[in-house]
Amino acid sequence: MTAWTLSYRAFAPDEEGLREALCTLGNGYLATRGAAPESRAGDIHYPGTYAAGCYNRLRDAVDGQTIEDESIVNLPNWLPVTFRIEGGPWFRVDDVDLLDHIQEVDLRRGVLTRTVRFRDTAGRTTRLTQRRFVHMEYEHLCGLQTTIVAEDWSGRIDVRSALDGTVENTGVERYRKLSGRHLRPLQAEAVDEETLLLVVETTESHIRIAEAARTRVHRENRPLRVGRSPTAEPGWICDDLAIDVGRSEPVTIDKVVAIFTSRDRAICEPAVAATGCIARVGSFDELLDRHVRAWARLWERSRVEIEGNDETLRIIRLHLFHLLQTVSENSVDLDAGVPARGLHGEAYRGHILWDELFVFPILNLRFPQLAQALLRYRYRRLPEARWAARDAGYLGAMYPWQSGSDGREESQRIHLNPVSGRWLPDTTHRQRHVSIAVAYNVWQYYQATGDLEFLTHYGAEMIIDIARFWGSIATYDHGRDRYVINGVMGPDEFHTGYPSAPSDGVDNNAYTNIMAAWVLLRALEVLAMLPEHRRIQLTDELGLEPDEIDRWEEISGKLFVPFHERGIISQFEGYGHLEELDWDAYREKFGDLRRLDRILEAEHDSPNRYKASKQADVLMLFYLLSADELGDLLTHLGYRWRPGVIPRTIEYYLARTSHGSTLSAVVHAWVLARSHRQRAMGYFAEALSSDVLDIQGGTTAEGIHLAAMAGSVDVLQRCFAGVESRGETLRLNPQWPAELGVLEFAIHYRGHSLTVRISGKKVRVAAGPGVLAPIRLSCGGQDAMLGPGEAVELPYSRRGGLR
Ligand code: BGC
Repeated sequence: MTAWTLSYRAFAPDEEGLREALCTLGNGYLATRGAAPESRAGDIHYPGTYAAGCYNRLRDAVDGQTIEDESIVNLPNWLPVTFRIEGGPWFRVDDVDLLDHIQEVDLRRGVLTRTVRFRDTAGRTTRLTQRRFVHMEYEHLCGLQTTIVAEDWSGRIDVRSALDGTVENTGVERYRKLSGRHLRPLQAEAVDEETLLLVVETTESHIRIAEAARTRVHRENRPLRVGRSPTAEPGWICDDLAIDVGRSEPVTIDKVVAIFTSRDRAICEPAVAATGCIARVGSFDELLDRHVRAWARLWERSRVEIEGNDETLRIIRLHLFHLLQTVSENSVDLDAGVPARGLHGEAYRGHILWDELFVFPILNLRFPQLAQALLRYRYRRLPEARWAARDAGYLGAMYPWQSGSDGREESQRIHLNPVSGRWLPDTTHRQRHVSIAVAYNVWQYYQATGDLEFLTHYGAEMIIDIARFWGSIATYDHGRDRYVINGVMGPDEFHTGYPSAPSDGVDNNAYTNIMAAWVLLRALEVLAMLPEHRRIQLTDELGLEPDEIDRWEEISGKLFVPFHERGIISQFEGYGHLEELDWDAYREKFGDLRRLDRILEAEHDSPNRYKASKQADVLMLFYLLSADELGDLLTHLGYRWRPGVIPRTIEYYLARTSHGSTLSAVVHAWVLARSHRQRAMGYFAEALSSDVLDIQGGTTAEGIHLAAMAGSVDVLQRCFAGVESRGETLRLNPQWPAELGVLEFAIHYRGHSLTVRISGKKVRVAAGPGVLAPIRLSCGGQDAMLGPGEAVELPYSRRGGLR
């Protein structure tokens, strides 16, 4: 296996869901799971196809209440291709005597290959090779090539190629009790000799989806005329092709599919677009060639090499691969966000959460246009966030914890605990900190790109309106002479409230309060930076009076931060009084404690009683802010802060964290990198294995953990390599674990294509040729200017405290 392949030998029904998710192919516009083409949804297989931003709502009655969920829609399955020999049973991988089964994703080329050899009940041996792509350049096109070799027989086969719009959303077991039928069939017909057309519509959002499939047969590159008999039923159409095969004579069936939806731009109508497109496109091989070239361009910009460590490199590339398949240049023109579980499955119903916080650092320094497009997804939903704030009695913009099509809150109101089988209230929407992530992402995008235009016309408005929200949700506590923020949830989702009021949220979540102060300060900074005419225009548009701005100034210096036990920041007010959990006893009894919340609930207990967190909460502060920034912020808030307390704080929370989210390992690798290299490497290894080893016990089958994937790359880039863009300087502060090998990667900074190489004690940065103005670099207290076509080498010291 090279550092460019993900490969699975032997068919393993138990692992099929996981493999399907990890073998997903996509292009930012749509993605299709790596399911066997002949398979149907069931306990083993789940062939899902999803288009970014294509959602639909359904209602259900549960426990006497009506609930409504918006989900990313499982589109008609374009894959089905199967065959039968001499009128026997249709081939299904589950039914035959397998001699060989290999499934391999070529990460460099974006191609999934499956090779199967099997013996049927009549003793015939057949070899099947299938290659597929989801086109990276022509985002509407997918292709599946099937080559069949009759190794020791000859005779007749019927090949069935179909489009299946009878599919439902049934990919996540927990949701299966709820409705999943999102598609209504509209049209199914053979439009010409070789082309099938299927049109469906989502039931509520009325998005039309058209798929046109062209199926051609050839033998040794010569087209083969075959008998065809199309059959259509509502929502389903197939064509049966009768082919005579000779012993050891390969026959190849090329299926190329065009997928359009009524959300697409520059089309008149999806069915017209799909049939028109399929009539014009070249052969499978021609398309494949262009697809591979598109991937080569993508990898050029996302290049990463780790000399001497192929295994880490392979997973890092796999993570980049899935990131680029979820959001790519094809997403730039779409109105779509960053779905937490990729376009790889149906967990979280394809919603967008705060996870993009972990994705932006990768995009900002590689695909700034894409990063900007994803921020615009948020910008377009600013009016909805304003309504949400107003409805809740606040000013400004309150972004939803989970968002889908129109930006309203999509978090479920009840959820199923699979351990107890009970439906429970879900109050995760209290995670108001999602708005902090939006503001932080806008600011980081600006830091990385210097894109003042975007900041002036879009970003500033988001930051200001988010600051406004924090300014209005914070209330003055006379007794303390401080501002407090009550009734929220922090990133640790275990604490939904206090034991006496478990659904009401907690008060003064430290992460939220400190970052709210950060947002308020950024809003003041942004206001001061704006060109005067824009400042006047914006304050007028938003009705922002000097009084309110003064109030931000005051709140940003007076937000309350709870502390307990020798200067340790409390996760929230009262945290210090919670009981200690007997972790050892629970570990002994239950083994894996990641989802401690479910275990406790099943025992009629609750994590609200304990000092126990699902994931980093206070420690997120060390992840997002440098030690200096955090120190300045706390000083500004009027607290005495000694950086010396950081290691103790890390230890304190680490000992009380179950890592029930894949985000946890990323953050812990990061925060430990400066102080405990070895332990940091352990968490880094865990972040790398989040999905390949499916460490959250089966959740990857429901969709990849995109933030952990991107986050692991970010640990390399911003933490170990220490690349950070602040102000007008690109800073390099490597803490590179030499045992990982020599790191080299490409980034895009202020128009320059840079190659960063970190080896031993030196950093080398080389800029591609061009005519741009030089940029400023800083490493280990040494500054250097770097112009196009130049390279600089800077020494660095591997010592130093936390960033
Ligand atoms: C985590 C959240 C995250 C979500 C989606 C949850 O398990 O606790 O922080 O946003 O997964 O990835």
